[in-house]
Amino acid sequence: MIRKIYYTVFVIFLFYGCSGFDSSQKHSTRSKNFSKDEVSLIFSGESNQSMRVLSIYNQSDSILLRTKCDDVIVDSDDKTLMHLVDRMYATVTDSSNDGVGIAAPQIGILKNIIWVQRYDKEGNPFEVYFNPKIKKYTKRKLNWLEGCLSIPGRRDTTTTRSYAVLLEYTDVQNTKQIEMVEGFTAIIFQHEIDHINGILYLDRLK
Ligand SMILES: [Zn+2]
Repeated sequence: MIRKIYYTVFVIFLFYGCSGFDSSQKHSTRSKNFSKDEVSLIFSGESNQSMRVLSIYNQSDSILLRTKCDDVIVDSDDKTLMHLVDRMYATVTDSSNDGVGIAAPQIGILKNIIWVQRYDKEGNPFEVYFNPKIKKYTKRKLNWLEGCLSIPGRRDTTTTRSYAVLLEYTDVQNTKQIEMVEGFTAIIFQHEIDHINGILYLDRLK
């Protein structure tokens, strides 16, 4: 009888021991997309916690904001990628930022990921886009008063943005999409896609 109890305790220990080990392995979140430093920045907070937004007025931030980003391998099982996406959303919707879009380099991750608020859709939802590229621009321009979370304290009217753009991107299901976007939403896409190419809206002022 005692032997049986010992055996049961041993089996329970083994089970919990293994499951504990397993979950810590999962939390270490190996990712094809990110370096060790990037993984620790991404997991420095919970998925609903906003991240520090880099500022053009800080010299080391400014270097990152001026760097062209890399494409990501889109995989919804990549826990690090999904955690980053959640934290970017928490950052852009944080009441202290209250933005209409954000790009990964703005929180220090040099990857081609953006969130855009879709003013052309009912309810103005925020949507995430991976590896977005602009394939075509209309000649017709649209003047717009732009601001940027990384350039606090100023707003300027850009006169060089296209009224509409043809976008190519990968969605969260890893499917390539092509879409035409116009108006204010097209300006947001142009602004955010500039970010992942190391370009700021100040560069678009005449
Ligand atoms: Zn910006």
